[in-house]
Amino acid sequence: MPVDHNTTPGFAKQADASDELAYLKQQFHFPKHNGKDVIYFCGNSLGLQPLQVAAAVETELNSWKELAVGGYFKGPNPWLYYQEYMKPSLAKIVGCRENEVTVMNALTVNLHLLLLGFYRPTPERFQIMMEAGAFPSDQYAVETLVKHFGYDPATAIIEISPQEGEKTLRTEAILEAISEHGGSLAMVLFGGINYYTGQFFDLKRITEAAHAVKAIAGFDLAHVAGNLPLQLHNWDVDFAAWCSYKYLNAGPGAVGGVYVHERHANRPRLGGWWGNDEKTRFKMEKGFVPKTDAGGWNISTAQVFNTVCLKAALELFDKAGIDQLRAKSIRLTAYLEYLLHQLPNIRFEIITPTDPESRGAQLSLYFIEKGKEIHDKMIENGIIVDYREPGVIRVAPAPMYCSFEDVYRFYEILRDNF
Ligand SMILES: *Cc1c(COP(=O)(O)O)cnc(C)c1O
Repeated sequence: MPVDHNTTPGFAKQADASDELAYLKQQFHFPKHNGKDVIYFCGNSLGLQPLQVAAAVETELNSWKELAVGGYFKGPNPWLYYQEYMKPSLAKIVGCRENEVTVMNALTVNLHLLLLGFYRPTPERFQIMMEAGAFPSDQYAVETLVKHFGYDPATAIIEISPQEGEKTLRTEAILEAISEHGGSLAMVLFGGINYYTGQFFDLKRITEAAHAVKAIAGFDLAHVAGNLPLQLHNWDVDFAAWCSYKYLNAGPGAVGGVYVHERHANRPRLGGWWGNDEKTRFKMEKGFVPKTDAGGWNISTAQVFNTVCLKAALELFDKAGIDQLRAKSIRLTAYLEYLLHQLPNIRFEIITPTDPESRGAQLSLYFIEKGKEIHDKMIENGIIVDYREPGVIRVAPAPMYCSFEDVYRFYEILRDNF
């Protein structure tokens, strides 16, 4: 879909004026810089606070104050079912049935729990395949998992790297590697989007390839949930986990999200009473009877105060629709990409794939020189972006609260200073 971009400020103004989601920007708190709202391109790291979060927290504080233990059964949102309230919205965002999604704990903890439920190594089949350069916490999780089972990470973990001279992975290369290691592969565990390159992997085809060799397909969707729409159920993905504080805007330490395909409802796992059927939960009897849905993976009492912000944040996703957000996101990121290519004096490379189908909101820019200076200049001008050595700036124009004018401002600073 070619768009007639141009480098006039009028283009950005016009694009914002015709953006049906522009109203969402007013639904967030922005940090201030010299008395003005910053431009925030760091939603891939920590999303902004939705205005309605404070009132939502207040509601639960009041239930606690006025009802105390009665809050589990009474009040506006009885806590006994608290994780249930997230399911309809999350099911739409990740593309699954409501019985396939739940919220609990935090991301890496959930990865561990899912890995313990799904990794069943045998002497023949014990390997886990990941993308090289996965987020460190995921690397640590898998390293310690295989050690826990008595395997050597050097042989039990297979990392797929880009071809010589390339920064991102080719889908064909991933699929080939899966079939090549087929006989010894227990699981494929990829980040849905690599946090560093911004590459979105073809989850459907990776899952197909994993299943073709009888391996489990699991994904860490930290950078995907709320960024791109998914079809986890239709793609037959076995399990997935994500955090809620990046594109989902649920705040630091927010409850994590978990998807488990319904065919795994009875799979053995580490259990606790909140995953037990409510009918027998309070009988306090022997014998774990897991709920027959993803909620059966819950372990502890619903964590109301790290879930309430997610509950409030999801209302904005319900209002906007993930497909509409994605449509805007594609335009916004393409506009950023276009503007960057109009800067002949700056030596940089876009690491993120150019194909919109292979990326979300984020572009990772590798500045061959002056990367840190550019980052500092942005901060000086109230534009929040992320910097990683050796000169990579990650820019994530999240469609919920970033505008075309924000993107234009980023371009202007590059154009006028470098
Ligand atoms: C952000 C992120 C994490 C962080 O995990 P927590 O347990 O929430 O601290 C883990 N993995 C990936 C891929 C991430 O992007």
